[in-house]
Amino acid sequence: MQNLKLPIMINPRKSAQRRLVCDGFFEVSGMTRLLDVCTPCNEHMQVNVKFDVDDLGLNVITGTGTLSVALICQRCTESLIIDLDIEFTLSPAKNDEAAEALPSYYDAIELDENGEVNLLELVEEELLLAIPLIAKHEPSKCQAPVDSVWGELPEELEQPNPFDILKKIK
Ligand SMILES: [Zn+2]
Repeated sequence: MQNLKLPIMINPRKSAQRRLVCDGFFEVSGMTRLLDVCTPCNEHMQVNVKFDVDDLGLNVITGTGTLSVALICQRCTESLIIDLDIEFTLSPAKNDEAAEALPSYYDAIELDENGEVNLLELVEEELLLAIPLIAKHEPSKCQAPVDSVWGELPEELEQPNPFDILKKIK
């Protein structure tokens, strides 16, 4: 079921009762806020989402996913590819009060008037949180001139001895 397109709106209560496991993908083109801040490397994002009822009787949504995106390196302004790994454990709440009452190990996710959550927005939100504030290459992979990086002196280049060159010409 890897190639299943995931539903955008889902009822977490019904899904939890069925112990639903969704293994599928989202079309990245639907994540407009994400597209504003980076360039995804793939059209699809593979996501695994599980719905369950815990010992307290709370509905729980857990999920994982990875998306490679291109950002701009803040040092050399060249493109930089990073993997955004997301992992979430949420419990749906009808209102702020219900959200406050949740155990601290759950993040609250708001239910809409139909008792549903927007799974695509949820995943997009997690991806946005996973983007580093300041994206930059590893120093060894960065295109920025060495002396502008950390004030390090560039390694001395092996300069050919001009006298050796003259010898070759003769
Ligand atoms: Zn760089």
